[in-house]
Amino acid sequence: MRIGIDLGGTSVKAALCEEDGTLLAKQSTPTRTGDAPGLCADMKLLALALCGERGISPDRITSIGIGVPGSFDKQTCTLKFGTNLGMNNVCFADAFRPEFACAVQLDNDANCAALGEATAGAARSARNMLMVTLGTGVGGGIIIDGKLYTGCNGIAGELGHIVIRQNGEPCNCGRKGCLEAYASAAAFVKFAERALADGRESVLSRDAGHLNAKMICDAVDAGDALARELFADYCENLSGGLATFINIFQPETIVLGGGLAGYGEKLLEPLRRLTFPQTFRSDACNTEIVCASLGNDAGLIGAAML
Ligand SMILES: [Zn+2]
Repeated sequence: MRIGIDLGGTSVKAALCEEDGTLLAKQSTPTRTGDAPGLCADMKLLALALCGERGISPDRITSIGIGVPGSFDKQTCTLKFGTNLGMNNVCFADAFRPEFACAVQLDNDANCAALGEATAGAARSARNMLMVTLGTGVGGGIIIDGKLYTGCNGIAGELGHIVIRQNGEPCNCGRKGCLEAYASAAAFVKFAERALADGRESVLSRDAGHLNAKMICDAVDAGDALARELFADYCENLSGGLATFINIFQPETIVLGGGLAGYGEKLLEPLRRLTFPQTFRSDACNTEIVCASLGNDAGLIGAAML
C-alpha cells in the first residue's frame, strides 16, 4: 500500500493507493499556510486516518509521496521555496515518523499528475508519454519507459518554457516567447483582454477585466467572431509546441490537463489537425493526443507512485 499527498495552497489532499495505483480512499484538510510543524502534523494525521479508515497498519505502507508546489530538493526531501504555502526550507523526511517507517518522496505537482495519468489514467497503456497542463502556466511531465524523467537536477519536464517565438511575449521565467506565454489559460485570457482593450467588438466585452478561459470557450461555442479568432490562434501556438515535443520524444500519448482540457474534443480536434502535419515524417506519426481522465486525482495517485 502507498500514500500520496497533494500539497496545495488551500488544501492538503491525501490518498491511500494499492501498489498498482488503484485509489482506495481519500481525505483532505485545509492547508495551515505559514505553519510548517502544523502542516507536517496534519499530513501525518491524514495518513493515519486513511490507514484507520481501511483498517491497515501503518507499517504496511511501503511509500509516501508528496506533490509540492515550488522548488525542492529530492535528495534531502526538502521543500526549498514554497511561496503558495508561506514556508521555505521544510524537510519532510521525518514528518511521518515514528508511525510510518517508509521513505518519503517529493516531486512537483505537474510531474505527479503525469505519473498518475500514466499509471491509472488517460495514458495507462503507454510506456512513453508526456503530460502538458494548460493552467495558470503550462506545466509538463515526461514519462520514459514507464518512469518519470527528472534529469540531473530533478527539475526536468518544464515543457512550457520552449521558445516558440523569438522576442515574443514576456514569460514568467524571464525569457521571451515561451510556449507558456501563448498557450497557458492565463495567456488565452490575456490576449482576449488585450483585444477588448483595443476596442474589438465581442460578446466578451460585458465581462472585460474579469474574463476567464471558460467564458472565452463559451463565446467560441456561441459563434463570437473574436473568440473564434483567439481560439484559432491559441490552437495554432499550442500545436507548434506539441509538434516539437513529438519530434523530440515520439511519445505514444500526449495527455492534456488543466482547466482548458475541460474543453475536450473541441480542443483536441483542431490540435490534432494542426499538430501532426508539422511533425517530422508526419506520415509515420502514431502519437495520440488526449485529455486527462483523472482530474485532481492524477496528482494524488502520481504522488503515491513516486
Ligand atoms: Zn518561460
